[in-house]
Amino acid sequence: MGKGRENNLPTHYVQIDDKLCNGCVLCMKACPTKAIRVRNGKARIRGVCIDCGECIRACPRGAVKAITTVQDAARMKPYTILSSSPVLYTQFGEEVTPNDILLALRKVFRHVYDQAYVNELFNVATEFYIRERRETEEEGWPLISPICPVVNRLIAYRFPQLFKNILPLIPPREIAAREVRRRLYCESVFKTEEFGIYHLSPCSAKMISIKEPLFLNSSYLDGALGINEVYEEIKKFIGKDNSNIMIHRSGGVGIWWGMSGGEIAGLDSGKYLAVSGMPETIKYLEMIEMGLLGNIEYVEFRACSEGCIGGPMTAVDKYEAKHVLQKLVRTYGVRKKVDYSQARKAYREGWFLADRKTDIPPHRSGTLSISEAIQRQERVEEVYRLLPKKECGICGSPDCRTFAEDVVDGEADLDDCPIHKSRDRKVKIVHEG
Ligand code: SF4
Ligand code: SF4
Repeated sequence: MGKGRENNLPTHYVQIDDKLCNGCVLCMKACPTKAIRVRNGKARIRGVCIDCGECIRACPRGAVKAITTVQDAARMKPYTILSSSPVLYTQFGEEVTPNDILLALRKVFRHVYDQAYVNELFNVATEFYIRERRETEEEGWPLISPICPVVNRLIAYRFPQLFKNILPLIPPREIAAREVRRRLYCESVFKTEEFGIYHLSPCSAKMISIKEPLFLNSSYLDGALGINEVYEEIKKFIGKDNSNIMIHRSGGVGIWWGMSGGEIAGLDSGKYLAVSGMPETIKYLEMIEMGLLGNIEYVEFRACSEGCIGGPMTAVDKYEAKHVLQKLVRTYGVRKKVDYSQARKAYREGWFLADRKTDIPPHRSGTLSISEAIQRQERVEEVYRLLPKKECGICGSPDCRTFAEDVVDGEADLDDCPIHKSRDRKVKIVHEG
């Protein structure tokens, strides 16, 4: 993981393996924040990386990877507890039930709990919050779901004025981890250092949301593992546990969270939208910024296309997963299994709101004064005028404008643009000849 160019940029948990990278520039072209440069035939993450994983998907050589918890480190703890994204339930075909999968997972990690049930509790809390807000607030709509860590980072660094729209509840994975941690602590079964709580996830951004949380002073989770990293091992144990233990507790709504539209499907009536995929996410955030969606109450954003089933750390194709998920929702019903009165009590006691930071994280304001920034921009325009605007990426920057910025910032040489270089040489030959 590395630091960005400026001190206030976040660390990131995506890395590029030099040995596998052949400098093809596909990752650079895919990056929505223009964080990648290719220099000397190797890709490097240089700017604001939001851990979206687009580069992982784009790389044909498998050179880009998300950094996750080392599995052996997780297993070395005397007591390891694992929660999983409901996406896991979509990875083993339509005949395998969520409980079969949790029992198999228990063979690998000993202690597991059903995250989908906490998703349903979160839905109830969201309903309460929206109802309260309808009565008190006329502005500041829509609220934005706090679930996708990539969207949260995108907002923090590109749309900081929308940070206040993010629903101020703690995400279900953190609530569940907090409660497990409290129970173990109260029961004095293990010392804190003897147990580890991990999240099994399709998401390349889960590690950064745990190590550098935006909303909490520190995460209740110890780390994250990719579903694709433990998939084969879980598969070996499917159907091998004949006990009658029931770990899966949710209805179809908690499972539905695995794909776009699942979170809002668990809310009672209201004006909601579900938006997925990076281009659409950016487009709709821009619309909110322009005040065009003030009639909407809640937007469920997921950076991955089709939602978390499209995450870069899944094991099966997102459309196969979607089919399985739809079947599971039909089987378990479009309903929540949570006890409403218990959820209401928890909400009133601040269970979902506690520990939430309210300050806005630093955003990419840069370190230049206004006059320096204007001068820099003038130099960028000068260099940009010299460029061919072919947007080819051969220079190793994502586009001609970013290349002009890199030249002005001393990170690239004008001659790195081969088209400019040969044109410049021709001009010199004509002048000298
Ligand atoms: S993870 Fe996303 S933001 Fe970070 S370098 Fe890759 S494509 Fe860019
Ligand atoms: S959509 Fe899901 S998997 Fe993708 S970045 Fe967001 S939380 Fe992670």
